[in-house]
Amino acid sequence: MAELPSSKLQSKAKTTLRGVDLDGHDLPPSPAPSSPHSGRRYALATELVYTEGSDQYNSSSVPIYQSATFRGGPGQEYDYTRSGNPTRTHLERHLAKIMNAQRALAVSSGMGALDVITRLLRPGDEVITGDDLYGGTNRLLKFLSTNSGIIVHHIDTTSLSAVASVLSSKTTMVLLETPTNPLIKIVDISTIATMAHDASPSAIVCVDNTMLSPLLLNPLDLGADIVFESGTKYLSGHHDLMAGVIAVNDPSLSEKLYFTINASGCGLSPFDSWLLLRGIKTLAVRMEKQQRNAMIVAQFLESHGFEVRYPGLKSHPQYDLHHSMARGAGAVLSFSTGSVALSERIVESARLWAISVSFGCVNSLISMPCRMSHASIDEATRKERGLQEDIIRLCVGIEDPEDLVDDLRQALVRAGAVRVTVDGTAALGAGNGGESVDVQETRGGDELVNGESEGNEKGSES
Ligand code: PLP
Repeated sequence: MAELPSSKLQSKAKTTLRGVDLDGHDLPPSPAPSSPHSGRRYALATELVYTEGSDQYNSSSVPIYQSATFRGGPGQEYDYTRSGNPTRTHLERHLAKIMNAQRALAVSSGMGALDVITRLLRPGDEVITGDDLYGGTNRLLKFLSTNSGIIVHHIDTTSLSAVASVLSSKTTMVLLETPTNPLIKIVDISTIATMAHDASPSAIVCVDNTMLSPLLLNPLDLGADIVFESGTKYLSGHHDLMAGVIAVNDPSLSEKLYFTINASGCGLSPFDSWLLLRGIKTLAVRMEKQQRNAMIVAQFLESHGFEVRYPGLKSHPQYDLHHSMARGAGAVLSFSTGSVALSERIVESARLWAISVSFGCVNSLISMPCRMSHASIDEATRKERGLQEDIIRLCVGIEDPEDLVDDLRQALVRAGAVRVTVDGTAALGAGNGGESVDVQETRGGDELVNGESEGNEKGSES
């Protein structure tokens, strides 16, 4: 690059430094913000990859400001990374745009995001939430009810009458997840948001949108006040970082949330902000492929007599409700086998499907939630909430769908959930009430040993 004379360099620095963005931030020369509400709006898949840039070197990727401090006097945009960092700001503006929010905030994990949100609560406040929640959410709420005097009502939020029966003028927060996990039940966000605001105008309706991501659902457009997500999942997509994001439209609410982030120091690090920004750009291609694969896997299992929970299937009892809110079914499904031992054998027999907690990654994962992601909910509570111990959760990745189905088929065969007959193979398992149903020939059909599983190749995680 040709060198500029120093007088020109100085005047260039002055002009770039003087730039005030749409939100009034006097930003340093780079990176430029991605402005949430300016100019033309493109389709979401385009907006995901499109970020405005006026970096002094026209860098295609936002620079990582790996700096704790910024020199200068009072009143400058950045002084200390706990309070703000240009790379994080860039990510937050991009998030605000794709989440249809006025402001987004990025923190160190999904649970960090919920921690920031629940610090809006005071002793005596009442929270209404679901009975099929992510285990970590359940654990944090339990901590708050035990130690901070917060009253938590766990109810079936898929039942409007159950919600109505606990809503009152004392309700401070309604915390929803849809689809629920692992029972994959659908929650009517719009109706509950209206009911909550009618009963208690200052109530905050908060939605955990981790399962669907902004590609498939915008809870703020459905009446929610706060949406948060674990960025560890679909937003980043590769299980290589932990992050949490929060999005709101109300400026006073955003200030309170920002205050806690600055006070507690849980803002996302510059490097992870950069990594998350990179992941977000491929959200559409990943999620579209993952849901196509999920549908193929769900149909395979359903056609073999298993009770499958997936909102892409017409058999899902809340199919219409889900599709009235969301732009797709997502890529997490669960099914029951009727036997914990059988489920364990299936999970252990999978080769391609990795035994792992979490979801949203490009590779496919298999787990038993009651043993892993939801193990922090005690057994009695799990039973009370209808969380069957034998549930298998599948989080579908971007692999070749035939390979995924084939691996699942061999796992079912090896586990003894299906058996080979002289005419081909047939399923015989607790999941289909012991009835025989036809299944396709397995690619590695010779692995079947009269329905017995052949050892555990993987250690189990808890
Ligand atoms: N919400 C849901 C639905 C989750 O599944 C998870 C994690 O699995 C979280 C929140 C917490 O996110 P993190 O693990 O990034 O703290």
